[in-house]
Formats: sequence, structure tokens, C-alpha cells
Amino acid sequence: MSTLVEKQQELINKAMFGECGSNGVYARTELFEQVINGLSRVITRHREPNTEVLRFPPVMSRSQLERSGYLQSFPHLLGAVSCLAGDEAQVRATVERPDWPTQLSPTELVLSPAACYPVYPLAAGRGPVPARGLLFDVASYCFRHEATHELGRFQSFQMREYVCIGAPAMVLDFRKRWITRGGDLAKQLGLDFTIANASDPFFGRAGRLAAMSQLEQALKFELLVPVRSAEEPTACMSFNYHLDHFTGAWQLSSENGTTVHTGCVAFGLDRLALALFAKHGVDPREWPTEVRRNFPFDEI
Ligand code: AMP
Ligand code: ZN
Repeated sequence: MSTLVEKQQELINKAMFGECGSNGVYARTELFEQVINGLSRVITRHREPNTEVLRFPPVMSRSQLERSGYLQSFPHLLGAVSCLAGDEAQVRATVERPDWPTQLSPTELVLSPAACYPVYPLAAGRGPVPARGLLFDVASYCFRHEATHELGRFQSFQMREYVCIGAPAMVLDFRKRWITRGGDLAKQLGLDFTIANASDPFFGRAGRLAAMSQLEQALKFELLVPVRSAEEPTACMSFNYHLDHFTGAWQLSSENGTTVHTGCVAFGLDRLALALFAKHGVDPREWPTEVRRNFPFDEI
């Protein structure tokens, strides 16, 4: 079955998540969390050797995000951390005002919009990139101020990524391997999928040109799974080639002065969990034996 029947959608809405009073923000049930953990383990099983593991908090440095060019590309999706300033009397007076949010002051933090942003400045801080390149395994909760909140489009969601920093051919090869491996992973989970050339939701009129150029250069591919419907499948993984976008911003260079590029493969854990429920039902004990064999649900 490739689409969610209404009853299943209702079950997912009610049984998988608890409403948290905001669109696209949910409390995860034990079952949902178990499936997320199982998915994380399946992804770890596919990790390449010599990959450094880093787990980031859901916030990151505002100046780092600015330097990464995020404000030019995706200002509409950004969320920032603001706090109350002043002494005790001022803070007390402020919170009594109904319009207290207008008194918030920006901090040096923003909500991370993707798990890989903090890794490029971190790598740059360590000096030149070795000739063998660098591989990272990163994850964080991410925030995006999405305009719509259909099933699978969260404001707050969990992203896992593998990142490659190295010579252009090395990064392209990394992405090629991961497109194949991402498909294998989806097959092991018994998911129907297609892999398609894609573009990011760049902001505004200039953004439409950026998206066209991204498509033309085939910089982004997505693994799409029919979660809500077969007609509008949901992007559950993306395979990205950034060219010198991040290496330019962070002056990341190689030991011998040759060009360094970056790329990443991103897994939307919540969407993959939804895809599993949509395809196999909401009781993992009843999932097909083949899928259960590949899915470490009981080990959690
Ligand atoms: P992107 O950086 O847009 O390629 O996102 C990487 C992955 O994160 C996507 O393939 C999705 O699986 C997931 N993702 C992106 N946006 C959302 C969202 N609003 N809600 C849930 N998952 C998302
Ligand atoms: Zn990334």
C-alpha cells in the first residue's frame, strides 16, 4: 500500500504524537522514539570507517549561521533565540506587559536549521584539510519556520547527516555512494521510493533563480517516499553537493592548496519513522519479517 488510508493517518496523528499546542510541534510517544532509535542504529550500521561522530545541540552560533550565507538563502525559515534583558525590576515589569514578546532582545544564538552547519567552522578551526579528506557523522534537532504543517512537515525535527570535506572528486564520489546506499537502506526498511533531482526552497525572486541553477547543476537529490500520497511523495533523505559554498565561507583549504568542496547526506528521522508507519502500519510487531530482521526495534 503506497498511500495512507484515513484511519491510519488518524492513528498517526493521535497515537504517535501528543499535541503540544503549536502547529508542527509534537511530543513523541515511546513507540515513536523507539522507531527513531531503531532508524538511528540502521543509519549507524552504514557509517563509513574513519568518520568522526559529533552530536550538536538544537542551537548554534548566530554569527556562524550568518557567515554561512543562510540569511541570503533561507531567511524565511530561520528562528532565533531571544531573551529578556535588564535587572530584576525591569524583567518583572516586562513580563507583566501583554506585549512582552516585543521586549525580547536577540542573543548570539539561533535555532539550527540543519545539522551540518556547525561542522564547517569547526573543521576550519583545525587547519588545512588533509589529502584523505574528512568525514563526519552529525545530528541535531532542527527548526524551520515552515509555512504549512501537513503531515511530515514539522517545525522542530531530528536530522542525522554524514558530511564529506575534500577534493571535488572525493565529495562527488561520497555523494554517489550515498545515493546508492540511501536506496539500499530504504529497501531494507521495505519502503517504496524514488530518487529525484531537487532544489532547496530558496527565498524570494532571486531564490527562484538559485533553485533553477541548483537543478541545472544537479547539486541536490532527494529520496522520496509516498507518505501522505503517491502524487506528492515526501523527501526523507537528501544528497547534497555544496561546491565551494562552505569552504569559501570558512576559508577551508587543503594541505597542498588544492580546491576543497563539501557535500552531505541528510536523513529526516521523523519523516522516515512516518514512512515506516505509513507503509507497514503502526504496530512494529506486525511489520513484515524481512523489515523486522533489518530493524533493531527489540534492542532499544
Ligand atoms: P534539507 O536540508 O531540506 O535537504 O533537509 C534534510 C532532510 O530533513 C530532508 O530530506 C527531510 O527528510 C528532513 N526535513 C526537512 N524539512 C523538514 C521538516 N519541516 N519536517 C520534517 N523533516 C524535514
Ligand atoms: Zn547538510
